[in-house]
Amino acid sequence: MIKIYNTLTGKLDPFVPVEEGKVSMYVCGPTVYNYIHVGNARPAIFFDTVRRWFEYSGYKVTYVQNFTDVDDKMIKRANEEHISLKEVADKYIAAYFEDTARINLKEEGMIRPKATENIKEMIEIVEELVQNGHAYVVDGDVYFRVKSYDEYGALSKKNTEDLLNGVRIDVNEQKEDPLDFALWKKAKEGEPSWESPWGKGRPGWHIECSAMSGRYLGKTFDIHGGGEDLIFPHHENEIAQSRCSVGGEFARYWMHNRYINIDGEKMSKSLGNFKLLRDILKHYDGNVLRLFILSSHYRKIVDFSDKELDQTKVALERIENALVTALEKAGSATAPEGDSLEELRGDLVSCKEKFKETMDEDFNTAQGLGVVFELIRSLNRASSVEKINAEGKEALEEAVNYIKTILEDVLGVTLKLKKEVSGDLTASLVELLIEVRNDARAKKDWAASDKIRDELDKLGVKLKDGKDKTVWTILK
Ligand SMILES: [Zn+2]
Repeated sequence: MIKIYNTLTGKLDPFVPVEEGKVSMYVCGPTVYNYIHVGNARPAIFFDTVRRWFEYSGYKVTYVQNFTDVDDKMIKRANEEHISLKEVADKYIAAYFEDTARINLKEEGMIRPKATENIKEMIEIVEELVQNGHAYVVDGDVYFRVKSYDEYGALSKKNTEDLLNGVRIDVNEQKEDPLDFALWKKAKEGEPSWESPWGKGRPGWHIECSAMSGRYLGKTFDIHGGGEDLIFPHHENEIAQSRCSVGGEFARYWMHNRYINIDGEKMSKSLGNFKLLRDILKHYDGNVLRLFILSSHYRKIVDFSDKELDQTKVALERIENALVTALEKAGSATAPEGDSLEELRGDLVSCKEKFKETMDEDFNTAQGLGVVFELIRSLNRASSVEKINAEGKEALEEAVNYIKTILEDVLGVTLKLKKEVSGDLTASLVELLIEVRNDARAKKDWAASDKIRDELDKLGVKLKDGKDKTVWTILK
C-alpha cells in the first residue's frame, strides 16, 4: 500500500483514494511572468514522478497544474515590456513548455488551466463566501474573514494568535482584521480587470487554485501538492476558501517538497543566486538534471552545484554503460555449458520488491535509486561471466528491461543506449555517408570528403579512418 507524508496530519498516512483505482491531484503551477528557475523544476519533476508511480502501480491519474497568468508580477512585467498581460502569459507559457520538454514531463492527459480562463468560477466562490458571512466587501475589494473559520491554521500548524503577533499591522484600514486576505481586488487605473458583482476588479491569488481544483477535480480530491513555501499562506487560504464555500473535504493529502540550495545557500531573489532552468540545460542534459533532482528525497533540501550535476552525469553513464554491456553479453554466443546467472535472477526479484517498498513509502526516489544501483552492480558482475547459456541471456535481458522501465517510465529519465543507436536508422545513415565519402576519396574529391567528415563531426559523429575501414562513434 502506498503511504504519503501528509502535511495536514503531520504523519505518514496510508493512501486511500476518493474513488477506487483513481487518483486526483492538483499541483500549484508557476506564475508565468518569467522563465522558470530550478526551484520551479523541482516540484514539476517530483510530482510528475508521483503521477508516474501511481500509473505504474495501476491507478488512473487525473493531474491538474495551473498557470497563474494574472497577478501583480504579471502586471508589472506587462508594463515593463509594454505588452499586454496576455502577451506576457503567452510568451512565458511557450517558454515553459520549451524548457520542460527537456525534463520529460508527461503532458499526455495533463490538465493545465489558466487563471484568466476561470474567472467566472472564482467569482462564484467569492459570491458564496460573501453570502454565507465568510467574506465581506469594502469598496470594491472582497476579503476573507479568517476568524469565521475555526480550523484556520490546521495545515501550517499556526494559530491565529501567533499569526497576529507575527503580522505586520497592515496600513490597509479597510480590513476588519489584519489576518484577513483578499479574495477580489478592486481594479486600479490601467490594470486589467473583469466585471464582478462588486465592480471591476481581479481575483486574489489564492482563490485561483480553489476555483481550478474545484472545477476539474471536485470538492473532495486526493492530493494537493506544491513547494513548502506555499503551505502558508497560500494553501492555508485555499483550504479556508474551499471548505467555507463549496464544502467537502477539499484535498485529503497535502504533499510539499523542500527547497533548493545553490552552492550551499538557499536560492533566493535577495541573494541573486537564481538559476534558470534554461541556463542549466545549456550545460547539462535534462535527463541528468532529472536524475539529480530525484536523487534526493523530496522532503530534503537539494544541494545544487555543478559538481553534483557532474557526478550525476557520470552516474547516468554508469547505468547506460552497464545496460549496453549486458545487452552485448546477451547477444554473444550462448554456450549450453555456460552460466545461467542464477544470482542475477535472485537479485532482480529482491530489487523489484525493494524498489516497490521504497517508492510506496512516500515516494522515496533517493533510496529507490540506491536499489537500482545495487541491481546495476549485480548486472555488471553477470556481464563479466565468461560464458552464459540461454537462461543467462534471458536473465540479462530481463534485468536490463526492468532497469530501463524504472528509469524511463517511472523516473522519467530517458537512457541513451548505443546498442539501440547502432541498430537504427541513424546507424544506416552514417554508414551510407561513409560509403559516399569513400567514393569521393577514391576520386580524390577531398573537398566533398572533408565536408562529410566535418559536418558529421558537428553532429557529434566522429570518424576514424583505419587501414581498410572507417569506424565511427557517437559522442554522448
Ligand atoms: Zn495554488
